[in-house]
Amino acid sequence: MKVFKFGGASVKDAAGVKNVADIIKRFGDEKILIVVSATGKTTNALEEVVNAYLKNTDELQDKIKVIKDNHYNICKGLFSDESHAVYQQLNDIFYDLEKFVSKDRPDSNSYVYDQIVSVGEMISSVILSQYLNYAGVKNSWLDVCKVLKTDDTYREAIINWEDSTQKTNEILRPLLEKNTVVTQGFIGSTVEGFTTTLGREGSDYTAAIFANILDAENQTIWKDVPGVMSGDPRRFQDAVFIDELSYLEAVEMTYYGASVIHPKTIKPIQNKNIPLLVKSFINPEGKGTKVFGAEYPIQYPPVRVIKDNQTLLTFHSIDFSFVADDTVGDLLKAFALANLKINMMQTGAISLQAVVDNSPEKIEKVIKLVKNIFNIHQENDLVILTIRHYNNDVIQKHIADKQVIISQKRPSTYQVLYMK
Ligand code: ASP
Ligand code: MG
Repeated sequence: MKVFKFGGASVKDAAGVKNVADIIKRFGDEKILIVVSATGKTTNALEEVVNAYLKNTDELQDKIKVIKDNHYNICKGLFSDESHAVYQQLNDIFYDLEKFVSKDRPDSNSYVYDQIVSVGEMISSVILSQYLNYAGVKNSWLDVCKVLKTDDTYREAIINWEDSTQKTNEILRPLLEKNTVVTQGFIGSTVEGFTTTLGREGSDYTAAIFANILDAENQTIWKDVPGVMSGDPRRFQDAVFIDELSYLEAVEMTYYGASVIHPKTIKPIQNKNIPLLVKSFINPEGKGTKVFGAEYPIQYPPVRVIKDNQTLLTFHSIDFSFVADDTVGDLLKAFALANLKINMMQTGAISLQAVVDNSPEKIEKVIKLVKNIFNIHQENDLVILTIRHYNNDVIQKHIADKQVIISQKRPSTYQVLYMK
């Protein structure tokens, strides 16, 4: 059994949905689990709905209407019959959304976010499932909330593996024995049945969770690029295609910010030794990149990863005591409590510098926790460039015209923080 993940770009319009159906047809009678993301930029549009609702602005209805029209247009391009059942299904989903936003605002903004943003995957999965049936690919639509169970950390929900395994085996496995199944990426639900989301771009991770639980033969992520490249081709014109990657290399690259695969995707598939294929939905014949448990050393070209929107936090100990084990411990604990990941770190005698994503709420939390031990300085608008398998020429080429703030070299990884 195979698990396929189709991202938003692959189903952004009617032609995209048709193309996905063509890809599925290539696999004949195979039963495939299809995990789909919201179409195109729908998640961003739904984030705007969340903001309009929370701020109670007049734009709310317009913003919902844009999303609605967009999806009805996709359906018009797919189904000749104007009374096809898909329209009623979409109406029901939008009716629930309208009902939700007509009520008083609950206390938790993150809860609100998940209830609204999850609508994107509901719509795209209904359209894809209906279209596949229409095009002759028999499939069942599954509400992923029935099987993917999480805690209640809204916006960044943690998977409850035990419950999810049990429900997947009970509900999804028998469905897949019958035919292909279409379900939603990115979302799950608490035991009480409230919808949660797994973090932006989380659909790759959903697919990996199911690949793990179902012991899939492989997982494929269908993208608008030929596979994994040695840098984001939109930023590095000289990026080259990489045909094989070890799990370790993939985990390193994604950890540093390579957005081609969601960083949480690798662990579930590595744990069961399941190969991950990254292939092009534009050119499905193409070989794609294989991520797997390579038993031989792979030669990699220099791989470049950029992380924008970085903030440098400098902590100076107030009473001039050394930044030693205790204080570093307190500081790291504060980052953990705020759920703020450190992307780069450097220590001096009485100071410590940490580079983090610019998430104001989390940064505020860290500052609040340690401001009686440290004076804190914050600098925004920075960029981290990570080069795996670097050489001096590559480093020079990329930093020559930059104002470097920190640089670090480890045997296979070079990192530099510079001003935008
Ligand atoms: N639709 C969600 C997002 O855009 C999840 C995903 O695309 O993987 O973040
Ligand atoms: Mg997306």
